[in-house]
Amino acid sequence: MALALVVLAVVAFVTLLFKGHGYWALVAAAALCQGAWWLAGVASPNAFWTVAVILAVVAGVFGLPPIRRVLISASVMKKMARIMPRMGDTERIALEAGTVWWDGDLFSGAPDWRKLLDFEVQALTDKENAFIEGPTEELCALVDDWKIQQDRDLPPEVWEFLKSHGFFGMIIPEAYGGLGFSAIGHSAVIAKISTRSIATAVTVMVPNSLGPAELLLHYGTDEQKNHYLPRLADGRDIPCFALTEPEAGSDAASPRSTGVVCRGEFEGKEVLGMRLNWQKRYITLAPVATVLGLAFRLLDPDGLLGGEEDLGVTCALIPRDTPGTEIGDRHDPMGVPFQNGPIVGRDVFVPLDFIIGGEAGIGRGWHMLMDCLAAGRSISLPTQSAAAAQLATRAMGAYGTVREQFDMPIGRFEGIEEPLARIGGLTYVMDAARRLTCGAVDAGEKPAVLSAIVKAYLTDSMRSIVNDAMDIQAGAAICRGARNILGRGYTAVPIAITVEGANILTRSMIVYGQGAIRCHSYVQEEMAAVAAGDSARFDKAFFGHLGLIGRNATRSVLLGLSGGRLAAVPDDGPSARHLRRFERLSAAFALTSDVAMGTLGGALKRREKITGRLADALAWLYLGSAAVKRFHDDGKPVADVPFLDWSCEHAAYNVEQALDGVIANLPNRAAAGLTRALALPLGTRYRPPDDGLGATVAQSLLDGGEARLRLTPDVYTPASQEEGLGQLEATLDKVVRAEPARRKVKQAARAGDITGAGEAAQAEAAVAKGIIDEAERTLIAEATAARLDAIQVDSFDPETYQSLKG
Ligand SMILES: Cc1cc2nc3c(=O)[nH]c(=O)nc-3n(C[C@H](O)[C@H](O)[C@H](O)COP(=O)(O)OP(=O)(O)OC[C@H]3O[C@@H](n4cnc5c(N)ncnc54)[C@H](O)[C@@H]3O)c2cc1C
Repeated sequence: MALALVVLAVVAFVTLLFKGHGYWALVAAAALCQGAWWLAGVASPNAFWTVAVILAVVAGVFGLPPIRRVLISASVMKKMARIMPRMGDTERIALEAGTVWWDGDLFSGAPDWRKLLDFEVQALTDKENAFIEGPTEELCALVDDWKIQQDRDLPPEVWEFLKSHGFFGMIIPEAYGGLGFSAIGHSAVIAKISTRSIATAVTVMVPNSLGPAELLLHYGTDEQKNHYLPRLADGRDIPCFALTEPEAGSDAASPRSTGVVCRGEFEGKEVLGMRLNWQKRYITLAPVATVLGLAFRLLDPDGLLGGEEDLGVTCALIPRDTPGTEIGDRHDPMGVPFQNGPIVGRDVFVPLDFIIGGEAGIGRGWHMLMDCLAAGRSISLPTQSAAAAQLATRAMGAYGTVREQFDMPIGRFEGIEEPLARIGGLTYVMDAARRLTCGAVDAGEKPAVLSAIVKAYLTDSMRSIVNDAMDIQAGAAICRGARNILGRGYTAVPIAITVEGANILTRSMIVYGQGAIRCHSYVQEEMAAVAAGDSARFDKAFFGHLGLIGRNATRSVLLGLSGGRLAAVPDDGPSARHLRRFERLSAAFALTSDVAMGTLGGALKRREKITGRLADALAWLYLGSAAVKRFHDDGKPVADVPFLDWSCEHAAYNVEQALDGVIANLPNRAAAGLTRALALPLGTRYRPPDDGLGATVAQSLLDGGEARLRLTPDVYTPASQEEGLGQLEATLDKVVRAEPARRKVKQAARAGDITGAGEAAQAEAAVAKGIIDEAERTLIAEATAARLDAIQVDSFDPETYQSLKG
């Protein structure tokens, strides 16, 4: 009892102290200590007064803001100003872009699960559903991806279909002639097309992601909007957006392309404009674009605008036929034949009106791009990745049933079960994250950090899934041709890893780098206070921060020792244990992150192996919580429990391993030891999903089970006679229907009741003996024929082979 009172005294003292209640801290601690001594029977006036004086001094120094500001905060602030990394304007703009949402909760160490579970993810509207069931299905039926690969472009009728049905104007409001789709609607369209043809999907994705339409919607003048948006919506104009240059790839804020403010002649009149010179590369849709979005540095050496010489990164729209523009060459990105190429501009003169937002947009280009990217990154590539995952689940669930070796469907082998479980589990969590993040965008968020998480971790998970699927389908995945379902997607994976911020950089610099500043409850405020030299503001943020560390240390150790059982979560049933784990891991993550920041200071920015692991922890906390949210929103279906468990166990394991890796590599070993004791008090406890769970997940995808379809609602299913997925689906149906009859035949053969070499002869004998009837024999024969056809691969005569492309 006495000990408990002392512990309570310490907790009350520290808590009140860091909340700035010095007097109360002193009173609480003194009263409780006295009570403790009294209970322990060792009360001594001397001891009491000695402790009381010490506490009073500590409480005075730490608990009274005016005193601690002078004695502590001012010198800490000076120290921080020295070690804080220098931040340029472009970095500051990038860091400040977008909004903080659920990522802020995960960073706090005490996420509000009710907020997540009650959040309403917008559903597809009737119009969006009709578009997906109508024009999107029609488009998919029209597209022959193998032919596109060979012809090196979409056929004219597909281009025309895309334009005339408004595929290029999904994000453009109806008032301008666009479809005005939500993020989730736009994503559902891209998902379906992605399962049919990557080249077609990329062609649709680009005009609907960061580019002219998006920039005009947010920053364009009325005149620009009225001119361009209707033309972009119906495909009269095809846009591209050119940021990347040979010397400005990841470091996109440093373009060498320039615009120099000058007077010149445009359409027969002398106007104030700019002379542009640029060299851009990797620009998607550039070879066919009619309007080029361009980012460049605007300079005003003659002071014609009356301000500074370097006006900063600026964005403009340049019509393709403007003299000096060189356009039309193509890159060949992994043989995937979407339009992509370099563009060059030499002394291209255009009026200042061409700047997005007019003169008000001068120097605001980087800000515009970062702000739009914060939301835009949430949709295209995460959707393409989730769609690839769905396709792999659909196809490998079927192939694992249809393909037999050693007289068994290959899906029954444990060796295959392992990658198949990863495919199924990751598909569940990836699609959950896609849906949740689109929901956030539809709710008005511009989730900069969460969009970076889904971009980097969904494309990375896609790589894992596609590799697994290639291994399962083996030779049939490797031999190219119309029958090949996975190969073309496999070659496209590195493109998704690289574009919209290459993953290595995104992981360290955006997910954690931006997250640590934006999502943290106090860091941004501390930095702002240091920059402003405001010690009162700094004092408040700094002591709030210390209080947060104290709270997370206490929660970490208590939740760690109890295996998360002490966490109160607002959900019961199968997801409750996962929420408790994530609650515990969130506290451990927040604490570890603070220790890394506190001990490494500005040097943490360069320690990308540490920030990368912290990014992994934050990302898997988000992905795991998205899986719980999906399960909750889907009505907690019992059949999905294995997928929920797999996703959450995989996520919890990844978070814990990432934290373990951070702690093991913190240079300050004393701090690392203390952090380990608090964050992982019982060591690393979580394991990856075990073999039994993996088997349940994998087996539920086989034999035409309902889970395979439930996990893959966005996959376009081709007609049954079409080579590739269409034929595989039809074969699966036949194989499943024939299975009971086959089993009877096999059992009879094993028991020696029938003889015969081969399945057909045995089926014949089984009919003769009345073991199966004629209709069942036909089912078996049809299934065998279909299976034989479905496992074939393409071959080409020498002449055709010579002419193969891509
Ligand atoms: C097919 C394709 C389509 C594209 N479409 C467009 C488009 O339409 N418009 C457009 O403007 N651009 C486009 N891009 C450009 C794309 O966004 C860039 O390729 C990408 O930003 C990376 O630049 P880079 O290839 O020059 O790589 P680099 O910048 O050379 O990076 C190389 C590696 O270094 C890593 N790296 C760089 N800096 C850091 C750091 N600070 N910390 C850790 N790692 C770091 C990167 O992650 C990467 O792994 C496209 C590219 C491709 C390949």
